[in-house]
Amino acid sequence: MESSNPESPVAAVPLARRVRVVLVGAQHPGNIGAAARAMKTMGLRELVLVAPRRFPDPQAAAMASGAEDLLERARVCATLDEALAGCTHVAATTARQRYLSLPLFTPREWVARHASGAVGGHIALMFGRERVGLTNEEVDRCQELISIPADPEYSSLNLSQAVQVLAYEIRASQPAGLVVEAHEPVDAAEMERFYQHLEQTLVDLRFLNPDNPRLLMRRLRRLFARAAPDANEMNILRGMLTHAQQAVTRSGGAWSAPADA
Ligand code: SAH
Repeated sequence: MESSNPESPVAAVPLARRVRVVLVGAQHPGNIGAAARAMKTMGLRELVLVAPRRFPDPQAAAMASGAEDLLERARVCATLDEALAGCTHVAATTARQRYLSLPLFTPREWVARHASGAVGGHIALMFGRERVGLTNEEVDRCQELISIPADPEYSSLNLSQAVQVLAYEIRASQPAGLVVEAHEPVDAAEMERFYQHLEQTLVDLRFLNPDNPRLLMRRLRRLFARAAPDANEMNILRGMLTHAQQAVTRSGGAWSAPADA
């Protein structure tokens, strides 16, 4: 049957829910906290720490700043084996490009591969130590490498900032996570009332000569049709026109005509 796809039963689970962030041997507790914050802002939840130098630690909590719940839930493991348990897929992030045997992706390429659901299951996303990154043995545990295409002259990001870049790409691949305010243009009748008001105001202002209108209103219609104002914006426009008309009335309607009118 084509309708059911037994090859990818987890495809419906968003990538953010399938990714486990694994920090290997983190040296600065502040970076662990900052990584938790980076994750939480992008909807990632699962943090696993392999042999962190200091954790828990007040510096981690301070840098988490609102993401302490991730730290509290973080699992601390003695070995990488423990950290990777249950993952069907393991990817390592690296600033270096020396592991020639593995496929190498940019974060965006890597996310595109996995967000499509072509590869299912739980994914471990490994990050290395601040000073020395991951060992060769640790990288051997991975199927894929991810490198943020930074300046080759200086390509090593701060650990938590590397986490942020990956977490952002994961979120950006899932448009449902983004709430865009709906734009609802006013209807055609409302636009007509606006054009009438605009035309009358331009006549009042002696900007438009009713005996020689040329193409002005047509051009203005094209301009405002392109803008497709919503109800709020229309209120502002109508308010501006009303005020301009009141100013004309206050000055006795005796606005001097432009030189060429
Ligand atoms: N000197 C170390 C740098 C480690 S930075 C090295 O050569 O690997 C700490 C961690 O942040 C890295 O192990 C990696 O997980 C991540 N990271 C830093 N810069 C990165 C980049 N440009 N691309 C991918 N990950 C990066």
